Amino acid sequence: MERRRVGILGATGTVGQRFVQLLERHPWFEVAWLAASDRSAGKTYRDACAWKLDTPMPQRVADMVLQPNTPGASETDLPRIIFAALDADVARDLEPRFAAAGCAVISNSSAFRMAADVPLVIPEVNGDHLGLIESQAVRGQSGGFIVTNPNCSAIGLVLALKPLEQRFGIESMFVSTMQAVSGAGYPGVASLDILGNVVPFIRNEEEKMQEEIGKLLGRYTGSAVESLPAKVSAHCNRVAVVEGHTECVSIKLRTPATHEQILDAWQSFRPLDGKQFPSAPDCPVIYTGAADRPQPRLDVNAGGGMSTTVGRLRPCTLLDWKFVLLSHNTLRGAAGAAVLNAEVLARSGKLPKDAA
Ligand code: NAP
Repeated sequence: MERRRVGILGATGTVGQRFVQLLERHPWFEVAWLAASDRSAGKTYRDACAWKLDTPMPQRVADMVLQPNTPGASETDLPRIIFAALDADVARDLEPRFAAAGCAVISNSSAFRMAADVPLVIPEVNGDHLGLIESQAVRGQSGGFIVTNPNCSAIGLVLALKPLEQRFGIESMFVSTMQAVSGAGYPGVASLDILGNVVPFIRNEEEKMQEEIGKLLGRYTGSAVESLPAKVSAHCNRVAVVEGHTECVSIKLRTPATHEQILDAWQSFRPLDGKQFPSAPDCPVIYTGAADRPQPRLDVNAGGGMSTTVGRLRPCTLLDWKFVLLSHNTLRGAAGAAVLNAEVLARSGKLPKDAA
């Protein structure tokens, strides 16, 4: 099968580099266009990017020249599939311009996640919400649209919550995160602030988690999403870990559940109607019975970095149950999530085609 041409906006950043890495051998997509800030435009990717991943920068991409970040100004034909890894302020301006130019913008930023007509999607959780793209005015005008994936701390949590919500219902929850430094992009948090330290504040993170969980677990009516009416209280902390967000969760369910029933809900969770996608893990939620797991160093790459690892399920004296989870923030929490969204859109025939 011929691979579809794709572009990456914000290609030099932490998430942009993950896109380059993940797409290098992707069976359906091929990187054909790159852009970042004006500082990078005109340079080769090799010269513009401080590559920080533990696999080599792909040679073919290293030689590519970064294009201007406006749709009409590119020397290379603009692909109609654009993965975007931009800060929210930049995304708010640029993403609609690429959608207006006829592109499917598969976005990592928070700029449009909570917009009523923009899907906020984890395919294993709420793939049906992708129907919202039909209500975006820009789709009728240019064929383009915007689809988003969640905040990197919401995504791992919601994967673990979905089987519980389906089977028992969720009334309320309390979550406290320990988030990796790579979640802040590059160069991110200054080493003098984080080494040997915990920073109990990540701007807007608690608000994003609380509102995104409701939308992700909400009901799609065919034209809108009704948010899940569960109460969520989040505490977000930055810790001296490179990759992987760990979260301690206490939860109150709508109907009582035993330890065995909760484990069964996680272990039998096989979403996506049995369909295979290149980036979907076999088990989106993996339960570990080890007393001292999950740990970022040992478990962050479970399921190719696309599974949430859950452990330490035990009774909670305040709510019903408590547990710990871990998920990879730049794979499942960012680039991997966006690539999986694009795969689902591709399979359903929703991605616009390049001009012949
Ligand atoms: P980052 O490392 O700071 O990278 C930012 C990228 O945006 C760079 O490629 C930068 O290019 C580019 N850029 C800056 N200003 C620009 C402009 N005016 N026009 C076009 N491109 C511009 O950030 P990141 O961690 O990759 O995060 C990117 C987005 O993903 C953010 O919205 C973030 O919240 C979200 N996200 C991040 C994570 C994570 O774990 N890191 C997880 C989920 C979501 P230059 O190199 O030219 O400056």
